[in-house]
Amino acid sequence: MDDKLIFEKSKKGRKAYTLPKWNGEKNFNIADKYFRSGKIGLPEESEQEVIRHYVNLSTKNHHVDKGFYPLGSCTMKYNPKINEKLASLEGFTEIHPYQDEGSIQGVLELYHELDSMLSEVSGMSKVSLQPVAGAHGEWTALKVIRAYHETKGNVRKKVIIPDTAHGTNPASIIMAGYEVVQLHSNAEGLVDVDELREAFDEDTAAFMITNPNTLGLFEKNIKEIAEIVHSKGGLLYMDGANFNALLGIVKPADMGFDIMHFNLHKTFSTPHGGGGPGAGPIGVVEELIPFLPVPDVIKEDNKYKLNYNVPQTIGKVHSFYGNYLILVRAYIYMKVLGSDGLHRVSENAIINANYVKKMLEGHYDLPYKQHCMHEVVFSGENLLQYGIKTLDVAKRLLDFNMHAPTIYFPLLVHEAIMIEPTETEGKEVLDNFIAVMKQIAQEAQEDPEKLKMAPETTPVRRLNESLAAKNLNLKYEEKD
Ligand SMILES: *Cc1c(COP(=O)(O)O)cnc(C)c1O
Repeated sequence: MDDKLIFEKSKKGRKAYTLPKWNGEKNFNIADKYFRSGKIGLPEESEQEVIRHYVNLSTKNHHVDKGFYPLGSCTMKYNPKINEKLASLEGFTEIHPYQDEGSIQGVLELYHELDSMLSEVSGMSKVSLQPVAGAHGEWTALKVIRAYHETKGNVRKKVIIPDTAHGTNPASIIMAGYEVVQLHSNAEGLVDVDELREAFDEDTAAFMITNPNTLGLFEKNIKEIAEIVHSKGGLLYMDGANFNALLGIVKPADMGFDIMHFNLHKTFSTPHGGGGPGAGPIGVVEELIPFLPVPDVIKEDNKYKLNYNVPQTIGKVHSFYGNYLILVRAYIYMKVLGSDGLHRVSENAIINANYVKKMLEGHYDLPYKQHCMHEVVFSGENLLQYGIKTLDVAKRLLDFNMHAPTIYFPLLVHEAIMIEPTETEGKEVLDNFIAVMKQIAQEAQEDPEKLKMAPETTPVRRLNESLAAKNLNLKYEEKD
């Protein structure tokens, strides 16, 4: 058999690669034991049965198109269908990363404009679109921070985070070769400025925080925090996963941040979960531009070009130019909403979270009582007296066709219930959720056994989640 790929014209007139047909001879260099002895047992079903199978499966799973999904921290919001429609246009999907620049001018223009739009909303001077996840953006940014200090002849060893930090923050710090120093939050759930002042020395490269933090609280002392960090020659990093609380209201660069990542798949829509796909561009102030990954897109003589000529760059951090179709979706999202729309995103996110906070206060413990931003963290501690844990509350919600909020995170809140309603939900949905949460708190007192048995209505009840994760079985198994 000829093992070369055959180059053909597809029906649509474009070039396509296809494998030649196997002529049935075992002339491969493969041991006999690896050849099939019988026919492939693929299921044979009609189109109708296949469609029914997948539609049924899709309704067994919970997703944001089916019901409320108030997962805190990760912003699982509704993704406008126009994003999907436009991102699947052939001009976007039928291109190849090895095409020459002249034939992808529109693509490069989109990169260029998205860079400006993200720079505009963040106040940063330039954005690199290459990292493909929030965590990847963190790591890339830390590499930039390291390169910055090194050119100053200054190898710093530590990066500081607060105890509310998302788990990816300390992991990225270690991956970038730094030591992690963790600060305690103060009684208000915010950065303890005095502790930061004491901890931040000339051996510290950066302070890495999320604002608003993962308790949904705005770091009101952010200006003072920036001053402390800058007075020691350090850099202030913003984890931008919670950017849907700031859009059109405040720019990270104006708060004193030097560098940040965006989670396009959270703030600017794109369905995500299960580890991807994502896009985690980083934005930087002027001083850090020389260290950004290559290539970037520049405009010269009215043409867009991929620019590799960046002498101090940290290099490439991903194959080709990042997760292109996610960048397309973010671009469409911003274009459709415009600046007023983006402002309303944050307004609604904040109003929705505060409405839920107000309505559930008294039914669940509320460790931090001040005004929240896009998410609110309750504690289920008041239900422990009836033998009910936060996990039981989360499981019971599934019976009402609602996804559970994030639970047991952030770690510093016992029995944490972290609710992010998101900006896309209307009052009716929130009222329904609030009524269900109140009913569950009532059931905890009156019928705790019911909660411990929940969920009752899902295709499977309580799973041994750690066992399932450790013994993952995704194989197709034919039923007899
Ligand atoms: C989701 C999240 C991250 C990590 O982003 P990924 O895209 O999942 O890698 C980091 N920080 C915070 C606060 C997050 O919510």
